[in-house]
Amino acid sequence: MNDSFIDIRSSVASLCEEFNLEYWRELDEQRAYPSEFVAAMTKSGFLGALIPEEYGGSGLGISAAAAILEEVHISGGNAAECHAQMYIMGTVLKHGSNEQKKKYLPEIASGNIRLQAFGVTEPSSGTDTASLTTTAKLEGNNYIVNGQKVWTSRAEHSDLMLLLARTTPREEVERRHQGLSVFLVDMKTSVGQGLSIRPIKTMINHATTEVFFDNLVVPAENLIGEEGKGFRYILDGMNAERILISAECIGDARWFVKKATEYANDRSVFGRPIGQNQGIQFPIASAYAQTESASLMTVQAAKLFDNDEACGAEANMAKLLAAEASWEAANMCMQTFGGYGFAQEYDVERKFRETRLYQIAPVSTNLILSYIAEHVLGLPRSF
Ligand SMILES: Cc1cc2nc3c(=O)[nH]c(=O)nc-3n(C[C@H](O)[C@H](O)[C@H](O)COP(=O)(O)OP(=O)(O)OC[C@H]3O[C@@H](n4cnc5c(N)ncnc54)[C@H](O)[C@@H]3O)c2cc1C
Repeated sequence: MNDSFIDIRSSVASLCEEFNLEYWRELDEQRAYPSEFVAAMTKSGFLGALIPEEYGGSGLGISAAAAILEEVHISGGNAAECHAQMYIMGTVLKHGSNEQKKKYLPEIASGNIRLQAFGVTEPSSGTDTASLTTTAKLEGNNYIVNGQKVWTSRAEHSDLMLLLARTTPREEVERRHQGLSVFLVDMKTSVGQGLSIRPIKTMINHATTEVFFDNLVVPAENLIGEEGKGFRYILDGMNAERILISAECIGDARWFVKKATEYANDRSVFGRPIGQNQGIQFPIASAYAQTESASLMTVQAAKLFDNDEACGAEANMAKLLAAEASWEAANMCMQTFGGYGFAQEYDVERKFRETRLYQIAPVSTNLILSYIAEHVLGLPRSF
């Protein structure tokens, strides 16, 4: 992927030079939001990459967006605090009305509106999205929302949330994924008026939260698309998300391989560089090979996506392989650094913690394997 989008990559790389490893290390220690980095990414137009030009975005494809996020991670940074601003709007773009598109997309492209909170996961539903229990009931011109979400990342740094809620009771629909609907929730006016947010402390700096709805009033005009079809709309956006997260994993893996290679060349023990030992060389070479192959699958998935071709299998496989490659590279890098891998000043332990997330979120490895088994290979449905 490194040979493509050279200009974009070099602009992202020079932006990232301003946000060096000390910057990310400090934020991690303080569990603080990277406001300056997000502002710079917004100003440069990178977060509006996927928004069509007619709505003020750059009109680029997912391949270019993936290159942007990969570069952030190659630099040692972390785009997770703003990547959703790139792709959540895809639901509005694809399924929103003309009025909604005109109202929101230009503001999202300029960064005036941050749409980067995604309210899907609930404590009791977990991976089984269709069993969610948050409800939205139509009363006059409004929906009244009650329930709870968990792991709603960036909720405190978002103006809007894309919310998936049940509008028709489970007993009244034939299939459980029916009767779910998608809404845009105005976070700023809702906090304290039926919406409350509680941060969750996690092993990484991720600004994730629990969100509670207590008779929250959401105007009916904020419904996206048709009532009851929300599950389909959310699924539509998942390939984009998987491809972009794969690119971040590839960026992480490249960072670990480079870091380990440099260290293995510099560090001398028993009177020779540790990298002279094949016990150190081979894991680095193996991580490199895994990264390159995961990158090819990511590029392939992105190409199909940009050509409007079916890419479910490739997007899922890219996410699986890239998350595995980044984790293997992280583990290899930690081992290469020995005790120093644990010292914060080398940044390996931070990246090690951060990249572990991607085998669990936004979709866990088991769920991807189950998709491949059932939908690609035709094995019997498991759940
Ligand atoms: C830091 C972070 C940020 C997140 N951000 C968001 C966000 O912004 N918005 C949002 O909606 N969600 C978010 N999530 C939630 C994330 O998508 C879920 O954690 C993830 O989908 C897994 O759900 P769960 O944690 O409830 O695991 P569970 O569903 O409880 O599963 C636990 C484990 O069991 C496995 N498992 C479950 N069922 C099966 C099965 N049938 N076969 C095999 N294995 C199975 C799973 O793969 C997993 O490994 C975030 C999570 C984290 C940790």
